[in-house]
Amino acid sequence: MLTGKKLFQTIIFSEILQGLKLTLKHMLKGNVITEQYPHEKPQLPDGWRGAIVHLRYDDGTEKCVGCALCEAACPSHCITVISAERPDLPQKRIAETYILDMTKCVFCGFCVQACPVNALASSKEYELATRDKRELVMTKDTMLTLGDKYFPVREKRPVYSDARMDLFEALKATGFPKAEKGHNS
Ligand code: SF4
Ligand code: SF4
Repeated sequence: MLTGKKLFQTIIFSEILQGLKLTLKHMLKGNVITEQYPHEKPQLPDGWRGAIVHLRYDDGTEKCVGCALCEAACPSHCITVISAERPDLPQKRIAETYILDMTKCVFCGFCVQACPVNALASSKEYELATRDKRELVMTKDTMLTLGDKYFPVREKRPVYSDARMDLFEALKATGFPKAEKGHNS
């Protein structure tokens, strides 16, 4: 049951008045901290997890090797990877198709952690509002463009083993050995 004092406070909306009093106190002191977004952009911390992007090496080649570990790690099932062999580097693979559906992404960063070659990163891209949610289904090219924008300093590309490449080139020139008939039968 409400006491007389409590009833009076309820009638005059005392909690709202207390809130207004606090707001006025800070306004008069000049402590206005409201950010005037979108005219002023907020300063985001370094650990901010915005849109996931793809990264490149210093020579411009993409880091992704199409292993699909990010797809396996994603709790929202929003990544699809279809991999293929690189035509210029046999035995090396790339993500021929890479799709990330941002409408399902929860920005947990698990995909970034799972990637064995650090091909993914959380960017500071947060202005993702759109009227057409199909624009939030990102392809690898879109993600690479965002990666170029937010991570202009790139890691040096590792040197691949030349011995295997030399052997491949030699076999390509002379013809690959054919499997013996009945060998696997
Ligand atoms: S941040 Fe999380 S939810 Fe978003 S794609 Fe990566 S693993 Fe999936
Ligand atoms: S982004 Fe990383 S984890 Fe995902 S397919 Fe590419 S290399 Fe594999």
